[in-house]
Amino acid sequence: MIQPGQTIGIIGGGQLGQMMALDAKQTGMKVLVLDPTPACPAGQVADDQIVAEYADVAAIEELARRSDVLTYEFENVDLNALKDVADQVYVPQGTHLLYTTKNRIREKTFLRDAGLQTAPFRAVKDAADLKRAVAELGYPCVLKTCEGGYDGHGQEVLHSDADLAKCTGILSTRDAILEGWVPFELECSVMVGRNENGEVTVFPVAENIHHDEILHISIIPARISPELQKKAQQMAVQIAHAIDLRGILGVEMFVGRDGEIYINELAPRPHNSGHYSIEACNFSQFAIHNRAVCNWPLPKIDLLKPAVMVNVLGQHVAGVREQIAKQPNWHFHDYGKAEVRHNRKMGHVTILTDDVEQTLTEIDNTGIWSE
Ligand code: AMP
Repeated sequence: MIQPGQTIGIIGGGQLGQMMALDAKQTGMKVLVLDPTPACPAGQVADDQIVAEYADVAAIEELARRSDVLTYEFENVDLNALKDVADQVYVPQGTHLLYTTKNRIREKTFLRDAGLQTAPFRAVKDAADLKRAVAELGYPCVLKTCEGGYDGHGQEVLHSDADLAKCTGILSTRDAILEGWVPFELECSVMVGRNENGEVTVFPVAENIHHDEILHISIIPARISPELQKKAQQMAVQIAHAIDLRGILGVEMFVGRDGEIYINELAPRPHNSGHYSIEACNFSQFAIHNRAVCNWPLPKIDLLKPAVMVNVLGQHVAGVREQIAKQPNWHFHDYGKAEVRHNRKMGHVTILTDDVEQTLTEIDNTGIWSE
């Protein structure tokens, strides 16, 4: 067990690292962050920051030397560097989880082998593979880069042969995956935490609405039947055990029009759709992550009140700041990023509510998110 007073080292200093660090400070831990941007969001609240690139081996070694437990806030961690320091510092999450989730083929293969339903998929390396895969899966389908894509980047949705030409960009640079289209009712996600002793705890199901491929709103609990909610949570727990999870994992899912749940993606870290848990649950996703990597016992998660979480992107910041004086019930989170850019995640707002529909209307009525 890692004790208060010992140091959690975090690779990556964005908002996820910041909220991890805020929770860790609350329990008396020390926090050291590695990030190339001076005074990055996590650096602002940590005890100290090493300002260096994520792949800087000397910097990762310094982080390992000065930490008692090492974790990360994103998946693009240098696996070899992490492996190299694993004998110097406790790395509870290991490298297998990252290795699996970094690559969409490996991730979907793992899920399929663990008995979970995903979209049908084929590995695609070139135009000939693509033709064959399209013939097998049919239209519509979606071509994605195997690695490095996020928020819809590195993806092409294909409706007919005419769209094949759009794929040359993706195919010229990287290995790809073709997925059959899942006609879905809605998208949802479940956060699940597990520690070294195999104790598991699972969060309520969040319903996720995206704009421009970026998460816009999460509604908790998701507006699906209690049976489906239970099934989604059970699937997340099944995945946590199958992958021998340590820490927190985000499981993104589609609720298909056929009433089945399909796993879309795994995030081996806290997830944007779990931010609501800071106010709406007895323990947040960040608290569960920290407890799990420090091998503390894990509590059962209770939803204290339904919640709506809205992301604040660069274009929403001014409007949201204006609302501070008018919205006593909004929980504002500002990540403290120096540069405001269009579509950059700058913060979020969580609203606890007994009337989700009314709250969604109120959010709409502000006009901030209407473009
Ligand atoms: P991803 O990066 O895999 O999360 O994909 C981004 C978004 O594209 C998802 O949130 C879905 O809205 C949509 N999408 C991706 N893959 C599929 C699929 N196989 N079937 C239906 N929609 C998909």
